[in-house]
Amino acid sequence: MTAITTRPAHRIPVADYVAGVSAGDRTMLARAITLVESSNPEHGKLAQAVLQELLPRTGKAIRLGITGVPGVGKSTTIDQFGMNLIAAGHKVAVLAIDPTSRRTGGSILGDKTRMNALAAEANAFIRPSPSSGTLGGVTRRTRETMALCEAAGFDVVIVETVGVGQSEVTVADMVDFFLVLLLAGGGDDLQGIKKGIIELADMIAINKADGDNIKRAESAAADYRAALQIFTPHGATWFPPVVTVSGRDNRGLDVLWAKILEHREKMTATGEFQARRRAQAVSWMRDMLEDRMMGALKANAAVAAELGSIEQAVSAGTLLPTLAVDRIMDLMGLGSAGHI
Ligand code: GDP
Repeated sequence: MTAITTRPAHRIPVADYVAGVSAGDRTMLARAITLVESSNPEHGKLAQAVLQELLPRTGKAIRLGITGVPGVGKSTTIDQFGMNLIAAGHKVAVLAIDPTSRRTGGSILGDKTRMNALAAEANAFIRPSPSSGTLGGVTRRTRETMALCEAAGFDVVIVETVGVGQSEVTVADMVDFFLVLLLAGGGDDLQGIKKGIIELADMIAINKADGDNIKRAESAAADYRAALQIFTPHGATWFPPVVTVSGRDNRGLDVLWAKILEHREKMTATGEFQARRRAQAVSWMRDMLEDRMMGALKANAAVAAELGSIEQAVSAGTLLPTLAVDRIMDLMGLGSAGHI
């Protein structure tokens, strides 16, 4: 008999994946994630069966999103923060989404060795989340990977994303707590506000508050605190705190964790925590539905045969986009009734 680890993914029975992941077996967790990420329909079916079985074991972790521009200190901070959590008895999974890898062919997150301390820990699991494909596809894979990590016993799941593009919104929509890392300085201390990230933030941490930089970091924090007054509705349960930290020197990371726990406690007491999770499950379903519909569209032979000429006609201005969509819906057998 071939050892499980060397068998092709689709030859491993669902029960083995479920038992392996439930037991916290890292190899099986990694294999299950590969299954979730696979574009092979057979793997997809198997992945869904595994996830369905594991569902009761999911949902218990603290789901934390962390964003910030390259160089802000995400890997340094997560490395240290994760080590602190592990020292306190937690199991930490880190999923890194790099939305830039698709366009540049290279990867901001993958280019360097990151999170060296965590990488060597038995109670940590680090995994880059592939960003190729549709945003819905990325979301699905990351959410499912998160569920697998939870089922494997990781009680803190950190989803890291580079602060560019659409990915913050996507990540904010799949976590309990969204942390924005910023830097002081550059005469542009309100850079985050311009990008609209602040509205998503459950907390802002000004990083690299160490050495000569402490004063500047405190002053930037004061600016952000003032700015947040404008964004946070009066009477909100949670007013996003602004803290200063140093990932490098392990300064303020205890406060960061305390705030995350305080947030969970307060939001649970009002029912907002549960409401957020419920809304996220629905939004997960919708993302998947959209993804599946687009998949069905691309796989449809009649559409494939005509899509090129339909797009040409739209591009040439001889066919209205609305009518083109009607035509495609007809080809899909979905009719054009109810279009907007
Ligand atoms: P990332 O691109 O956001 O993951 O940032 P990195 O963690 O790779 O850090 C970028 C650079 O900033 C590296 O040279 C780090 O050593 C440095 N750095 C990260 N955190 C701190 C910090 O808290 N204080 C100082 N002074 N430097 C830091």
